Amino acid sequence: MAPAAHSTPISVLLPTALVERRRLMEKLRANRHRRLVLVSAQPAYDDILAFYGRVFQEQAADIETIAVTAGAPDAARAGIARKEGFPLVVPAELPVDLAHAAALLLRLCQAVQGATPPLKAAAAAIRSAIDDNRLNPVEMLEARRDENPERFATLAAELDVPLEVLAFFADESLAPSLVAGRRQVAGHRREDVARDQGYCPVCGSAPALGVLEEDGRRFLICSVCRQRWRVRRVRCTACGQTDAQKLYYIYSEEEPAYRIDACDVCRHYVKTVDRRRLARPFYPPWSRCSPFTWTWWPPKTS
Ligand SMILES: [Zn+2]
Ligand SMILES: [Zn+2]
Repeated sequence: MAPAAHSTPISVLLPTALVERRRLMEKLRANRHRRLVLVSAQPAYDDILAFYGRVFQEQAADIETIAVTAGAPDAARAGIARKEGFPLVVPAELPVDLAHAAALLLRLCQAVQGATPPLKAAAAAIRSAIDDNRLNPVEMLEARRDENPERFATLAAELDVPLEVLAFFADESLAPSLVAGRRQVAGHRREDVARDQGYCPVCGSAPALGVLEEDGRRFLICSVCRQRWRVRRVRCTACGQTDAQKLYYIYSEEEPAYRIDACDVCRHYVKTVDRRRLARPFYPPWSRCSPFTWTWWPPKTS
């Protein structure tokens, strides 16, 4: 199965203080006031950055050295995909170097300083099971990759690791292969033509994050292969609604560059970074899993 967009509960990924703060904010949300302030995650940034920073460093090194061979789709298929707005491939067609991913998994499980206790506990359980030959990391990654949710769930239960936490480690370990494969499949694909589709033009997966560039162009970033593609600015990427009265944005008052783009018709929403308001360098992997991103909630509509 394609690695899912991050679905790990924030209680696992974030320190307790942040979770409590989020609960408080959820109570406030009951007021259904659209201009509610989003939670402040600043106090915990340093610790969390220490952990995710190492994850990103390990992944970046892998992306440059990994050797996957993804066959680019033939011209006819690529032409149809482009004309009809279909993705070039399905996620299963993006090749994965499982041995490389397994090695990365081990490194990620050793790089957990600063991570939350549930992540540390899971990393220790995974390491121990690999050391004792109770877990074959390649098989585990295959199960995650090959649409085998039952097998993957069984492995999580055997390890006594929450399913979503095992998925987090598996997905982050598979990511460098998927990015390297996507680069081969997509080639020099232009990203600057605005599409109507809310799914990835390369692999068809859902976006993990939206980005509003300084010049006002709007992009989405794929949750699986991390391809970036342009979409129309005033259009729901799920149902196609273009009536500006039915599309709205919720900006954070504490992190003014972060906002939710939401649709009143289908209730779909996309977490978005507005680079026009961003005072620091933009690093998509961090924005994707920053505490702030995790603590956003589906907006209520009145
Ligand atoms: Zn994709
Ligand atoms: Zn919609």
